[in-house]
Amino acid sequence: MFVLGACLQGAAQGTFEKYFEKKTLRIDFALSGNAQTQSAAIQQLREEPVWGGPIKNLIDTFGYGGYYVNVYDKTSKELIFSRGFNTLFEEWRTTAQAKVETQAWNNCVCIPFPKDKVIVEFTARDKSCMQFHSLLKTEIDPQSIFIDRTALKKNPVVKIQDKGDSNEKVDLLFVAEGYTAAEQDKFVKDAKRFMEALFKTPPFDQRRDDFNVWAVGTISEESGTSSSGKGIYKNTALNTGYYTFGVDRYLTTQDIKPIRDAIWNVPCDAIFLLINAETYGGGGMYNFYACGTADNERTLGVFAHEFGHSFAGLADEYFTSTVAYEDFYNLKHEPWEPNITTLVDFDKKWKDLLPEGTPIPTPLNDKTKDKIGVFEGGGYLAKGIYRPVDHCMMRDYAPFCPACSRAILKMVDFLSDK
Ligand SMILES: [Zn+2]
Repeated sequence: MFVLGACLQGAAQGTFEKYFEKKTLRIDFALSGNAQTQSAAIQQLREEPVWGGPIKNLIDTFGYGGYYVNVYDKTSKELIFSRGFNTLFEEWRTTAQAKVETQAWNNCVCIPFPKDKVIVEFTARDKSCMQFHSLLKTEIDPQSIFIDRTALKKNPVVKIQDKGDSNEKVDLLFVAEGYTAAEQDKFVKDAKRFMEALFKTPPFDQRRDDFNVWAVGTISEESGTSSSGKGIYKNTALNTGYYTFGVDRYLTTQDIKPIRDAIWNVPCDAIFLLINAETYGGGGMYNFYACGTADNERTLGVFAHEFGHSFAGLADEYFTSTVAYEDFYNLKHEPWEPNITTLVDFDKKWKDLLPEGTPIPTPLNDKTKDKIGVFEGGGYLAKGIYRPVDHCMMRDYAPFCPACSRAILKMVDFLSDK
């Protein structure tokens, strides 16, 4: 086994060197549309100086997310890189507003910088069949004068945990939001506090050595964040605010470009926007970003929960809180998230983790309430969607359940190039 593994590793490393340089090609693109349709358009290409992602794990086989970016070698047509991801725009498409309005939102993906011409394709998942279809296909010439190669503003960056080569580690970035020039020390202290909390949270506690952690400072003109529903508007570096889709606790930014501009020279696998505020709130989209506030009493739970979304593609397991989404899950199909099921294709989920004889679905009672099973309620719906345990981080800040934990560990393996 050892020898075979080493051979495969050699082959994959060769693939990276054949097709890519250890730099980033950042692709900014617009998604526009409404509840019925969407389309994609390239806005800007940028060359950025580092590649912090894996160099062996170039093809994403998780199948997570609403979108994929696929990169093909132009000559051989071979798939040489892919990654799935979610966007906030995709969530917006499930709101009532998207039934009556058409909008365009900025988005961003990063791929390793190609050595030769490539074909880059964006695909989107059609929820009526769960299959991906092509949104946009474009040829990119790495020599093109239309790729912006400008250095951006160098923010203060503190590496708060260094475990080695970024290509073999998960590079987790805390990015400051709503911290003024006078509050930069507080930001670094807050980032360290969050880091320590993460590595005390199972299963992350087992894998501390697989992470590099960075605190990327930004200076906001005003302290805090906006809360449009309360008439509070703050001039901050990353334009975050509560009341996303009208929900008071849903704290996000619609604007991903300032985030990517802030971290342009830092190796990155995962982004958490640390927001200098006290009110409960946060958000997280798979392989996009997560965010939460620094100083609420439930802040560290919110962090682990939102990071579960953005890092490992975990679904919400709660089903009693209000959300702005309508028909978020199509019950005729198996959702892609690893921690919920509609029982349409449960074999792909946590069936192998169930003790023999566990009834599917599992009735919730005194005997089963602390065990793994298949409990009805999850993914914002009390009926038709099932969760692995009664209480999990993805429901109400209990410890991550076995299905969520396994998904997190698989993602740590992938991003640390195991
Ligand atoms: Zn869970």
